[in-house]
Parts: sequence; C-alpha cells; structure tokens
Amino acid sequence: MSTAKKSALRTRDMECINWIEFREWVPAKIDTVLLPLGTLEPHGVAPNGTDILAPVAMAREIAPRVNAMVAPAVPYGFTGMLDAYPGSFTIPEEAFRSYVRAVLTGLAKNKFKNIILLNGHGGGQTAILGALAQEVGRDTGARILVVNWWSYCSDVTLEVFGEDGGHAAENETAYILAIDPALVQKAHYKSEMATAIPPPNTWSAYPFPSTIMLYKEGQGYPKFDPVKAKTYFSKVNDKIARLIRETIKKWDMTGV
Ligand SMILES: [Zn+2]
Repeated sequence: MSTAKKSALRTRDMECINWIEFREWVPAKIDTVLLPLGTLEPHGVAPNGTDILAPVAMAREIAPRVNAMVAPAVPYGFTGMLDAYPGSFTIPEEAFRSYVRAVLTGLAKNKFKNIILLNGHGGGQTAILGALAQEVGRDTGARILVVNWWSYCSDVTLEVFGEDGGHAAENETAYILAIDPALVQKAHYKSEMATAIPPPNTWSAYPFPSTIMLYKEGQGYPKFDPVKAKTYFSKVNDKIARLIRETIKKWDMTGV
C-alpha cells in the first residue's frame, strides 16, 4: 500500500462515504475495518458512555496507522451488574448476540478481510464477542480480532500510573480525560465512590454498590493527572496499533 494511495482517502469514517467510493476503496485500497463496541453504564465521574467514547477515539487515532476504515460503533451493549444506575441500558444477551453477528457478517459481506473489534466493555460482553468472532470468521472467511483494551493494556496502566486500575478507575478515567477534559466531572468525585472488586466466591451484589471498581484493594483511585492521561492515551493506542499490525502480518504469513 503506497502512501499516495493512503492519503487519497478523504475520510476513514465508513458512514461518511458514498457507495461509489466504497466500491473503489474496499477492498482494493483498504481491507481492514475497526468496529468500536461499548455500552451505557455508570463510570464514577466519567460519562455513562465511557465504553463507547474510548474505543471510538481509539479507532479514529489508530485507523490511519493500520490503514483501516472505522465502522459506526455498536453503542448499546450487554451491561450486567451496573444496569440499575440512572442512564444505563442493557440489551438482552440473545438480541445483542444476533445484532452483533449481523453487523460482523455485513462487514465481511462488504469485503473487509480483517475485522477488528475494539471492545470498550467487559463483563459478559467479552465472552460473547470472543465466541462471535469464531462463529462469523468460520462462516464468512473473514479474519477477526477482538481487543479488550483495558485488560490488554494492564501493563501500560502499571507503567504509567505505578499501580493497577479498575472499572472507571484511574486508567479508564485517564483515557477519557485525554479525549476531552470536559468529559470528566472531577467535582463529583469522592474516594468513597470506589470499591475493590470482590475475590471470586466471597460476595456479590446487584446492583453493585459502587460505580468505580478497583482491581486491587487500595489501588487505582482516579487522580485526574492530565499529563499522565495523555501519556496513557498514546501508549495504549501504540500498543493496540502494534497488535493489529502484527496480527494481520501473521495472518498474511500463514495464508489463513
Ligand atoms: Zn468502562
């Protein structure tokens, strides 16, 4: 792929091009698509749509580096134990599964060879997407990578902040802060808002009593450092862009 060809693309947002451009570009100039997926659930003092905003920003930042289009996000997800909070939604598992299956099949049918799911939400959604990647990949011949960025980049969290993060904790809040500081309402923050995620088989609660869930007791409280937030944003994106490039390279090498 030549640089001249890449720079000829006037946008990478799939909803902003017409069918004639699509026919010209996909798959001749571009055969990879990034699909952000999230959900709406509470995130401490970050927005309910954190799990949408993060992978959408990630996709925009990474797309030119991996020569990909950015598909419109799947914003409503399979939420889980926080869906009782104001402004939250959950889509029943079967409906979510069928809908995302149809989206992935549609991307494959539109001749994207590499479909990269940038998932912003954990809980049960991670397992559903992992299973769908196999199903749709097997059925369509598309090559599908699922990235759960907060887990994959837990080493970056440790490197930048010196401790582990959590749901709506320092890492996730920092990523949003880097996108736009106005998205994070620090004035609403109290450290008592955070609870450590209970070890397996100790206790569970619905609704979970906190919207900030720490992976480790006493670690990962949001500190709202704008400089570290920017560093974190770029290191996370670098690591994910690298994973995408290497995965595609290996798929090509093995001829799958
Ligand atoms: Zn989140």
